[in-house]
Amino acid sequence: MATIFTKIINREIPANIVYENEKVIAFKDINPQAPVHILVVPKKEIPTINDITEEDKELIGEMYLAIGKIAKELGIAEEGYRVITNCNEFGGQEVFHIHFHLLGGKKLGTLV
Ligand code: AMP
Repeated sequence: MATIFTKIINREIPANIVYENEKVIAFKDINPQAPVHILVVPKKEIPTINDITEEDKELIGEMYLAIGKIAKELGIAEEGYRVITNCNEFGGQEVFHIHFHLLGGKKLGTLV
């Protein structure tokens, strides 16, 4: 089912887009948890990590390539950053269209 991220991809609702190519879009998180908090989202609607299939292997690689480019563009690549994907209830997933949280701009705390 389409989520709010599909609406952002289709320009039906606004977002602060920092990167886009044929397969991937990235925009600022509306509720940032760090000085840099970007959501990197595949244009293909995949609800959770559990739904990734063999045919998505290349797409997942594209996501990480995009993350590296965005980190460099935003000037956080050398100092470092964190990439997180939440899955389902225990992982704290709220939007069921997979996405990578790219967090940086300060020294981050412990993971959980
Ligand atoms: P998750 O809990 O991993 O599913 O993360 C969903 C993220 O989407 C949260 O960090 C929200 O702040 C963010 N979010 C929800 N709606 C929007 C929106 N319209 N624009 C940007 N970020 C959003």
